Amino acid sequence: MKLTVLGCDGGIGGARHTTCLKLGAHALIDAGTGLSSLSLAEMAAIDHVFLSHAHLDHVALLPLLVDSVGAARTRPLEVHGLPATLDSLRQHIFNWQIWPDFSQLPSAEAPWLQWRPLAVGERFAMDDGYLTALPAHHTVPAVAYRLEGPTGSLVFSGDTSSDEAFWQAVLASPDLRHLLIECAFPDEESRLAGQARHYSPSRLAADLAQLPAQVQVWISHLKPTDAERTLAQIAALAPCEVQALAAGVVLTV
Ligand SMILES: [Zn+2]
Ligand SMILES: [Zn+2]
Repeated sequence: MKLTVLGCDGGIGGARHTTCLKLGAHALIDAGTGLSSLSLAEMAAIDHVFLSHAHLDHVALLPLLVDSVGAARTRPLEVHGLPATLDSLRQHIFNWQIWPDFSQLPSAEAPWLQWRPLAVGERFAMDDGYLTALPAHHTVPAVAYRLEGPTGSLVFSGDTSSDEAFWQAVLASPDLRHLLIECAFPDEESRLAGQARHYSPSRLAADLAQLPAQVQVWISHLKPTDAERTLAQIAALAPCEVQALAAGVVLTV
């Protein structure tokens, strides 16, 4: 399974874009501003979007994706997420005020978008492996995702704070090769990180001690203004090597 990072930052500016990962040619994980780097043809080829949660940095370009390529497609774009995530999008974005409800357009019988509620633990067969929704702990209902391919597995945390159920799922991943995990704030702002249910470096470094040695650790969701400081703090404390995830990184399992 080939995962291409289109955006993974905790904000925008220059080359920085918010979370959007492309899985193969036909699926996305989250639809943040990283999505804007896709061509029209690449966007039209997307059949599935798997959302981690409803926050704007992870869904910002979903409305424009549907609108831009709906007419060029022969079947609805399937948007997968927790029921609460999909409810938030329906209520607050696709509500005919911020954006039209494309699950009813151009007609209710042949819409451009279909909502697909998922449950934690649900596993989807993809072209060359499986995608599974894992537990995460954030200010709103959220999931992480695991990819299992022919050469091992990969976990993407989405937005989460330290959480036992998440780590149980990470450690139960067969032949885990890559962990993409968020850390939004530096340790000086650990109180804010706690309120926003994000990781800060000390807490993340402590949790990383559980990982087997062969796992490559990638840090995502760094706030643009504090990215270098936050990464340096993790690197100084973590028992393993860590590197910043960046747009353009391609990981295969
Ligand atoms: Zn969030
Ligand atoms: Zn976020």
